[in-house]
Amino acid sequence: MTRIEIRGLTKRYGPDTVVDDLSFTVEPGQVTGFLGPNGAGKTTTMKMIVGLAAPTRGQVTIGGRRYGDLPVPLTEVGALLDAGAVHDSRKAYDHLLALAVSNGLPRRRIDEVLARTGLTGVAGKRAGGFSLGMRQRLGIAAALLGDPRVLIFDEPVNGLDPEGIRWIRDFMRSLAREGRAVLVSSHLMSEMAQTADHLVVIGRGKLIADTGVAEFVRGEGTVLVRTPDPEFALRLTAAGATVREGAESSLVVSGMTS
Ligand code: ADP
Repeated sequence: MTRIEIRGLTKRYGPDTVVDDLSFTVEPGQVTGFLGPNGAGKTTTMKMIVGLAAPTRGQVTIGGRRYGDLPVPLTEVGALLDAGAVHDSRKAYDHLLALAVSNGLPRRRIDEVLARTGLTGVAGKRAGGFSLGMRQRLGIAAALLGDPRVLIFDEPVNGLDPEGIRWIRDFMRSLAREGRAVLVSSHLMSEMAQTADHLVVIGRGKLIADTGVAEFVRGEGTVLVRTPDPEFALRLTAAGATVREGAESSLVVSGMTS
């Protein structure tokens, strides 16, 4: 079983510490929600996990291996970090083919990931004509090309319509059911409530809360969180969320946005 272990991860840009001594684990078979307001350091953390940014300090271990700041192979980790990254003039199939060739992956994987993401029918079409939802799916197809045990999605539902959002959520759940470790970021507690089994909250680069297995119930404008962490409410309050105690070890959280 492949997990991501993040220990003491720190990133400085000049005088700014944007990720500050962060430690948490992304377990296989679960969707780990990575929650924090805009600018909290989520993207920077994800870039360090996949080797697109070099940590100033600390380490990331994936399946027991450390890659340092080397790019992690697509067979280990697939990531959707920027859906806009596909060139408009590229056909979906060709985008995947270029990735498969440059990463030494078998071509049959292209048809498999196109089918899995529902893009078979538009494989010969240019990405420029794709909706944002289809671009996201193409990005996810690319992330799946190496059949990785670990997947990382940065704000995957941003800007999508309800149908696109539902598709992505269901897809992430199915990846976790297959035993993969899935890390997904959002600035919305309500979004996490729909997808995550386990919640890691950051603010200003620092870990605010790590709930272990959490349970969410979505209400009108609020989210009920049942968590084994007795200090979860205190920590979220300190981070600026509106929290009130619910029944027993559960809390009601609203406004966990920037
Ligand atoms: P999030 O994904 O949570 O919105 P980011 O990781 O994108 O947060 O950004 C965290 C902070 O780091 C922000 O203040 C951002 O301006 C800063 N930052 C991100 N990338 C760079 C960079 N390449 N150079 C300098 N500052 C950066």
